[in-house]
Amino acid sequence: MSAFTRVVHLYFLRLVAALAVFALLKVVFRFGVDWRFRGKPPYPLDLPRPGRAPLLNKPERCFLSISSDDWGRWADSVPIFPDIAFASSHEELQTAPAGFWYRLATSETREDLENLGSLLERLNADVTYEKRVVLTPHWIVGGPDFEAMRKLSRPLAVACHGRDGGRQDRCGYIELLLHDSAGGLSRPPYSRGDLRDLYRKLYMNELWHPEYHGRSHFSVSRWLRELNIAGSKAEACFNHSLVCGSSEIALRSEFDWFDEHQHLLEWIQGGLHSFRAFWGYRPRVLSSPHNTWTPWLADAARYAGFIGTSLGDVQKVYRMDGGLVITNRPRFDAFYPGFDCEKSVNEIIKTLNSTKFANIMWHAQNAMRSTYSLEEYEKHLSCFERLIGKVRAMLPGLAIVTESELHQIRVRGWSAEVWNSSIVYRNYQRTSVDVYAADPTAFGTVESWHGKDLVMEELQGKATKTGPNSALHTGDTIRLYPDSIIRVRVSESRATIPSS
Ligand SMILES: [Zn+2]
Repeated sequence: MSAFTRVVHLYFLRLVAALAVFALLKVVFRFGVDWRFRGKPPYPLDLPRPGRAPLLNKPERCFLSISSDDWGRWADSVPIFPDIAFASSHEELQTAPAGFWYRLATSETREDLENLGSLLERLNADVTYEKRVVLTPHWIVGGPDFEAMRKLSRPLAVACHGRDGGRQDRCGYIELLLHDSAGGLSRPPYSRGDLRDLYRKLYMNELWHPEYHGRSHFSVSRWLRELNIAGSKAEACFNHSLVCGSSEIALRSEFDWFDEHQHLLEWIQGGLHSFRAFWGYRPRVLSSPHNTWTPWLADAARYAGFIGTSLGDVQKVYRMDGGLVITNRPRFDAFYPGFDCEKSVNEIIKTLNSTKFANIMWHAQNAMRSTYSLEEYEKHLSCFERLIGKVRAMLPGLAIVTESELHQIRVRGWSAEVWNSSIVYRNYQRTSVDVYAADPTAFGTVESWHGKDLVMEELQGKATKTGPNSALHTGDTIRLYPDSIIRVRVSESRATIPSS
């Protein structure tokens, strides 16, 4: 054996030995296994850190969610005008540059909500569960109480911090929140009435699944400082019960301008309290007003229990930040200047064909009539209809999902979503997955299913309960076969006890 062959031989033996030791260690220590899930089925809301992308059950499979910002909002960094007549007679209050769509920013009416509901119902007639349109409206749960703030002496106190205990000597911002008032939209200059039943109806009918946007949509501390300057633009808007600043961007944005991280967290938690008290569950996806994003906000979002966030159309594409799924949103706003509906629809189809996942940004403004002619309003809605018709026709493997489902499926191939009195599970992996039958309190609901008999409804595909008992209860294991969608709810025979 030559010296060269001996060296090669020696190194080859060492390599084999190293590989053998590694394989042994792998068996002993089970490298690459997620320890949290060992020996038990995964908990519905735990998102593992990213490993490899989940293997999907069909090559043509793709997922679309429709994210819709600004519902419930009556204030912003620019004035929100009640209608076109008000906007055109108060040109002096405008802060956005000429031609910018923000000059027409408005809020929803009863009629807008009814029309949107009818459109979605019509689009969902005679389609399979997976092809049903579902919106993910991002909710603003509060705004200023102008009436109450007018009674305060000037200058307004600006030390608001986390709005602890409503101390008006420290904070001149008085807030109306969704869960305990009909909000600013019920008051002048909007006078929309109490829209809360209509909001809830769209959720009960599973036409939308609200998530979190914020509780003011502008920087409260910056606004108070501008309000304290006599003759300011902010004061002129305030006199008409509107919010604005010295420029269109001066009050951007809600989650910026906090001095301490703890104050930001308290501000978010207060908004989440209101969201949960109104909608009955905890939001899981955050869209930050004006799409601002900072490491502070990422930390606060994780701490507050969000699993995902949705950014703007030019922000960094899909990534994981700790346990937080971060995605961009291609803009699909028919009201946006220069928007080409046909071209945008084709781009979304292209994205879905290539990346398999799309979370599009379809602002609430698309469904609002007040600052547009009837012709423009109908054009905006018909563009949405065109999108839905075309994605369904061109993409046979398409599933339209909520944003929370999109974030979950992207990370692990299956999802759990809470609805009014039920939880819907989906499995899009090539293999079956065993999951716990969750209690809805895990999603923040008040009502627990503990000890109740549950039923499983197969909306698509097949699932079985594993284990000895025939009845299904929380904590039992459910096997979701590939391509299955199931709904779990309380058995009605037990839920309704007949009176004797
Ligand atoms: Zn917004």
